[in-house]
Amino acid sequence: MKNVWLQENKWEDVEDYLKKKTTIIIPFGSVEQHAQHLPLGTDAFLSQQIAVDVAKETNTLIAPPVWVGWAPHHMAYKGTITLKPETLTSIVQDMCESLIYHGFEKIILINGHREANLPPIKIGMTKVRNKTGAFLAIADPFYINAEKGKELSEVEEGGIGHAEELEASQMYHLFPDLCEPSKSAKNIPKNNHRFMQHDPHVIGDKMITVSDVATYKDATKGIGIMGDATLATKEKGKKYHEALIANISEFINYCEENIEVELRNQEIPI
Ligand SMILES: [Zn+2]
Repeated sequence: MKNVWLQENKWEDVEDYLKKKTTIIIPFGSVEQHAQHLPLGTDAFLSQQIAVDVAKETNTLIAPPVWVGWAPHHMAYKGTITLKPETLTSIVQDMCESLIYHGFEKIILINGHREANLPPIKIGMTKVRNKTGAFLAIADPFYINAEKGKELSEVEEGGIGHAEELEASQMYHLFPDLCEPSKSAKNIPKNNHRFMQHDPHVIGDKMITVSDVATYKDATKGIGIMGDATLATKEKGKKYHEALIANISEFINYCEENIEVELRNQEIPI
């Protein structure tokens, strides 16, 4: 393919592509506050850049990106846009079913918004999987790049959350003109009960609790950060990003070789 983005090709290019390969990537992001040092589009910018780099590495097509996601707690800060979760679930279903109708069999979603986007995306994917038999997978940096993230991170326990070290490092590496490192801040939540730890790098017994606008603003100190961005560097971001691209590329190549799909119910979403 000359162009990795589906929308930059012509329909005949897609027809030719499908004769050789039936995998496609869809980047999912969010437009939500990222404190004072990162732009609102951070999650979307990152998922799209990851998609482009993986696409070039593996010769895979990318569907148009989904810019916005499910981010109700971030409405505590100006500029955030949130979908209703059922809207996001429907977007997943309608995009995937359109692609499957044309013969795409394997769909790799790249989620830039971490855990908040996962429930509605997984519901949509599960419906599509059961209906069509297509193979669907989510590459979320917290999971597919967990080892490298842990290795690179220098923050204390509780330091990985939102707009923090790893996310900021990756942004400083990829989109320096949109960032203001001098405004980075630190806010390590001081949870007083051992079950209240949210940092994915901390192994331990945990509860899953949900946020609301009022308490999230308070918990993020009126700045919008959860964690420590003061330790973020371009160098860390480069290493983190390169490992992420290598991991997702390896997974796509693995799927090409090993995952068999037989499509059924290839229907137009209507
Ligand atoms: Zn983010």
